[in-house]
Amino acid sequence: MFSRASSFLRFISPSARKHKFSPLFLPSHSQATFRSISAMATQRALEIVEHSDMIRSAGDKRLYRAMTLKNGMKVVLVSDPDTDKSSAALDVHVGFMKDPKDLPGLAHFCEHMLFLGTKKYEEENAYNKFLSEHGGMSNAYTSSENTNYFFDIRPENLPGALDRFAQFFLCPLFTPSATDREVNAVNSENDKNLQQDPWRFNMLDRSLGNPDHDYTKYGTGNKDTLDTIPKSKGLNTRDELLKFHSQYYSSNIMSLAVLGKESLDELSEMVLPLFDPVANKSVEIPSWKEGPYGPEHVKKICYAVPVKDLRNLSVSWTIPDLSDYYASNPGHILGHLIGHEGKGSLLSELKQKGWVNSLCGGQTDGANGFMFFRIDFDLSEEGLEHVDDILLKMFQYIEMLRKEGPQEWVYKECQQLSDMIFKFKDKEMPINYTSFLARRTQKYPLPEVLSGSYLLTEYRPDLITMVLDKLVPETMRIGVVAKKFADVVDQKEKWYGTDYKVEDIPEEKIQKWKNCGLGENLHLPPRNEFIPTNFDLVPREKDCSHLPEMVKETGLTRLWFRQDDKFLLPKACMSFDISSPIAYIDPLHANMSTLFTELFKDALNEYAYDAELAGLSYDLMSTIWGMVLQVKGYHEKQPILLRKILEKLTDFKVDPKRFEIHKEMYIRGLRNFFAEEPYQHSVYYTNNLMAEVQWTKAELLQSAEDVTVEKLQAFIPELLSQLFIEGLIYGNVTKQQAKDIIDMTENILSEKCGTRELLPSQYKRYREVQIPDGCYYLYQTDNKVHKSSSIAIYYQCGMQDTLPNMLLELLVQIVGEPCFNILRTKEQLGYIVFSGVRRARGVQGLRVIIQSDRPPQYVDDRVEAFLHHMDSVIQEMSQEEYDKHVNALVTKRMDKPKKINGQNSKYWSEILSNTYNFDRDDIEVACLKTIKKDSLMKFFKDFIAVDAPHRHKLSIHILPANEGLGTDEPNTNDNGIDLLPVPPNLPKPTIVDDISDFKRHLGLYPLPKPFIDIRRARSKL
Ligand SMILES: [Zn+2]
Repeated sequence: MFSRASSFLRFISPSARKHKFSPLFLPSHSQATFRSISAMATQRALEIVEHSDMIRSAGDKRLYRAMTLKNGMKVVLVSDPDTDKSSAALDVHVGFMKDPKDLPGLAHFCEHMLFLGTKKYEEENAYNKFLSEHGGMSNAYTSSENTNYFFDIRPENLPGALDRFAQFFLCPLFTPSATDREVNAVNSENDKNLQQDPWRFNMLDRSLGNPDHDYTKYGTGNKDTLDTIPKSKGLNTRDELLKFHSQYYSSNIMSLAVLGKESLDELSEMVLPLFDPVANKSVEIPSWKEGPYGPEHVKKICYAVPVKDLRNLSVSWTIPDLSDYYASNPGHILGHLIGHEGKGSLLSELKQKGWVNSLCGGQTDGANGFMFFRIDFDLSEEGLEHVDDILLKMFQYIEMLRKEGPQEWVYKECQQLSDMIFKFKDKEMPINYTSFLARRTQKYPLPEVLSGSYLLTEYRPDLITMVLDKLVPETMRIGVVAKKFADVVDQKEKWYGTDYKVEDIPEEKIQKWKNCGLGENLHLPPRNEFIPTNFDLVPREKDCSHLPEMVKETGLTRLWFRQDDKFLLPKACMSFDISSPIAYIDPLHANMSTLFTELFKDALNEYAYDAELAGLSYDLMSTIWGMVLQVKGYHEKQPILLRKILEKLTDFKVDPKRFEIHKEMYIRGLRNFFAEEPYQHSVYYTNNLMAEVQWTKAELLQSAEDVTVEKLQAFIPELLSQLFIEGLIYGNVTKQQAKDIIDMTENILSEKCGTRELLPSQYKRYREVQIPDGCYYLYQTDNKVHKSSSIAIYYQCGMQDTLPNMLLELLVQIVGEPCFNILRTKEQLGYIVFSGVRRARGVQGLRVIIQSDRPPQYVDDRVEAFLHHMDSVIQEMSQEEYDKHVNALVTKRMDKPKKINGQNSKYWSEILSNTYNFDRDDIEVACLKTIKKDSLMKFFKDFIAVDAPHRHKLSIHILPANEGLGTDEPNTNDNGIDLLPVPPNLPKPTIVDDISDFKRHLGLYPLPKPFIDIRRARSKL
């Protein structure tokens, strides 16, 4: 795997701290508060780049205007009359590297606080409430150098949202009350990350540099750094927030991207008067002459102990900042080669030895002024004993690159791929696109804002050689991560408590690697045969349905087809749901199914890697009813790849060595589940209790050791002996081509492994457990790794169908924003406060998930108090407000997929769930528009209210294992907020001790009926 600049986060930690755990669904409608001020862009800008001067993707129909305002702010406007949502994002070129030394986390805290009230819109939830009521959402992140804010909204309400947004940068409030409370959200966010290895190793890596360098700062912050310690030193955090904002939030280091339905002139008139008044404090963009690792920090090896059972090796070098060389991107070219996975690659050699399973290499961001080149290896057990040998091979590969010298054909291949990716790129979601553009505008000249991160336009062998020359043993830093170092570590990282030890790399090893010579199997990759050459659209199907239609059915297969007429790209998606009755019959078979798919992908990797580079990828996943195979990307060579996959599938030989490695990885993966976060456990147990059959991680673990090469080899033909395959082919394909593909699939299977069709009764889908009316079950367990607790509450509301689906979604729409505002912002129960719809096996309900440092029962009661409060809120809601919510939900549901893969997923999920409601959005939205407030109230009274006749509640409480959480909470918390009263008549739960026993005594829901008449569809064939 190679990494493109700044997207390299595979083993290294996410360096961005997000404002919210997950986008919440927020409420709808409006009186536009925006006054249109007529002002031409020309009067307010120093520099304007018009649409025709921007380098654009050929298929991009949107119009652009980029400019630098007189206050120095860079602005990109995007006009898209077809957009379902409008959006804006603002990036400030300051991040946690500029935190004051004695206030770690201040930049991040500032980001949180800007959401909580401005002078013009004082209410704490004014911004989120407005977005929520108009089908929008928002988020933000703080990284080492940037803070990025973004939202989307129903297009009609862009002016109102922008006005609220602009105030963040004009007149934030930072009220003392919100400041005191919100520090708890930051603290909870930090708690969430404390036991996560990517965060721990990112911090450890930073902390090993020069302590005076800003790169070594700790950026999240917590209650100690932002509250307790400053207080003890007489520092007022709120004053410091105001200072930080007034010092760094300067227009000249901000960039703004706004996307709307309006024309460019209209957007200019809407946007410029709002952002023109942002003060220019002439802040210099921070830069660093040197990296954090001086001569005393290199030639070191660091051994560290992970929380999960991981084994990684990483090597890194500081390299010059290559950002200015984006046109030739030497780091990318080298990453492409070092991270290659085909024949002759470093990975190929290391896999052959059984030492390494995956590898990722390339340039990674440092900060303005320096960068890193980094190579990460995922080690097998044996690999951990061969770290020096792996490094020797790595240096031999680098030596081979030096000896061969830069190759223009390699550059040309990379260039060809980048051109193709840019030319045929999918349309982005507005909210992602504006965030991306705001960030890119900080990096590239205005005419290249759209293209700069994609295109290669200049071949610079000198730069490739320059970077290559930096990759030497004398300046390297090595990190090795494994549980076994627990015995040798002698230091603890300050913020996350990671145990580690640093040693010098002995001189003789350096010399050995310096004089490594060449490895006999290592060579440059062959030319990539998968690069597509045919980008034409296939002949158009006449009188084709605008939804997928059944085009073929035999006893063995059923095929759905739709030719794309919306995205018009040379791409297609082929999906196959392969049902086998034996795939999941017991934990042993479930384990074998998973191991088979993993070994399969491992064996095909060298072949398929070139295809993946060329934008054509596949995946084979085991499911509880068999397997799912998907092939996606450029259409031209899909049949070639599919044929290869099918031939390999039907003729698969288990390699004993790879088997042992994958079995060990698989078992480790199962065990590592127990170190996942509490909220993930609460989600997992909800499903475990509600599914008719789901083997638990513990059950899978117990039988995993029993899998042998012989058993697995015998299992594969048995798995393939009787199948039903249901497929969907969607994209740039003709009906005949689709039929040919399913014929090929059927032929290969029946010829090579005599596959027979399933009996109808062998086609099995598991069902959902039915909680009886008025029942409340509670399952409690602990999480031995993390210190937070978690709850998941599920109010089961019955079978999915058009009307109940819309009633539930409307309820979630109304509940979402107040749930966040009351339970997170006001009560500060935790960073993760989520409410939403849970759907599985044709059944659905309302779910609330919270990760907290409070006892689960307390949090559970707070959710009940909140829902009780919502009872009267909905009751008293005005018609106008109700209509806003309906419209907001309409906006969300009519937000159409932007990518062919997204559209494919929608169709595919209808097939996987056997519901076949391909026109679901239109059908459900039409129903939604007819729902009266009374019906919603009745739905609430029937299913959610404390005394609801059809209340079905399941609570999962995850307790931290070691630390006891306080149990008695006063009626007001330490934030001085009056708490909503807990309803007095809450039912007492039935405790679930034994999950199997629990399920044995409950009924099951029926499976959903198909939305369309399958027999009629079949009769039309
Ligand atoms: Zn945050």
